[in-house]
Amino acid sequence: MEFNIENLVRDNIKKMTPYSSARHEFSGDATIFLDANENSFGSPLTENYNRYPDPIQSKLKEKISSIKGVPSQNIFLGNGSDEAIDLLFRIFCNPGKDNVIIFPPTYGMYEVCAAMNDVQVKKVPLLENFQLNLERIETAIDPDTKLIFVCSPNNPTGNSISRNDIEVLLNNFDGLVVIDEAYINYAKQKTFIPELTEYPNLVILQTLSKAWGLAGLRLGMAFAGQPIINYLNKIKYPYNINTATQQLAIEALGNISSVNNWTKTTVEQKEWLQQELLRLPFTQTVYPSDANFILTKMTGASAIYSYLADKGIIVRDRSKVILCDDCLRITIGTPEENIQLIASLNAYTA
Ligand SMILES: *Cc1c(COP(=O)(O)O)cnc(C)c1O
Repeated sequence: MEFNIENLVRDNIKKMTPYSSARHEFSGDATIFLDANENSFGSPLTENYNRYPDPIQSKLKEKISSIKGVPSQNIFLGNGSDEAIDLLFRIFCNPGKDNVIIFPPTYGMYEVCAAMNDVQVKKVPLLENFQLNLERIETAIDPDTKLIFVCSPNNPTGNSISRNDIEVLLNNFDGLVVIDEAYINYAKQKTFIPELTEYPNLVILQTLSKAWGLAGLRLGMAFAGQPIINYLNKIKYPYNINTATQQLAIEALGNISSVNNWTKTTVEQKEWLQQELLRLPFTQTVYPSDANFILTKMTGASAIYSYLADKGIIVRDRSKVILCDDCLRITIGTPEENIQLIASLNAYTA
């Protein structure tokens, strides 16, 4: 297999001239900025946000680079990983012609972005054990297949996808394999980051929205070879990461220890919740989880969902999702929240 990104990128994306912002064109030292039509006086806030943010997020990327062990030029930052997902469609998938492959049940945004971009989605459901169906994937791939999305650990099933199976895709598919590692901090499996140097067709997505506790800031990361990163930068909105997010993310990334503690507690709490859920008379299955949530099959799941909602406890009803009949997805809360959840479930009678 010969990977050449130029064969994959849409013609219009190759040909277009990207927007060149004022802050992009001048990168030297200066004290008076009259180039971007900003308000030179300040902002009606204690912090000033009157200046446009750094369009390439240099400082933040340096910080992420040192934590993740990925050179800055192999990092793209987006307004959530959702932005990176959307941009991958726009770079690689010709609307009305190309297709992508996803493995349901999985994260909903791949399909939403495909629909938005008028791109066909080929669905190859996971096997009963929630692993890849490699034979059916092989027959689904055609010359117009540009992207394959692998969510690992997978949402909503919680399991990690077999590393060997992902490597089979990376070695045999000449489009891009996008591995969504949103939950990697909770997983026993290792990240694919060390494999970036080996596979030019690999894109890894991570996010500050889960283990880092920063869903409200909206910061997603894509790690990939430079040709892919260059195209993401070419078509992104010039100031896609706002100043507040850049500053706060740099500050947060300096506080690794609290994040590590929460992650450890979450994993301990998950084990406790799994035991408690198994004790309930209506629980059929508690699936193994490498994430910060548990998928569980319960007799009358939708009724249990409504019962909990009436008590002010909201879980995710996945009972209508393929392979998830009668399943609820429950995020691990604080110890106090988990105790309340179990107390309510213990009091439930169908
Ligand atoms: C939560 C989640 C994300 C996070 O998306 P952001 O836009 O970064 O908040 C990405 N992928 C999966 C599978 C998720 O569950």
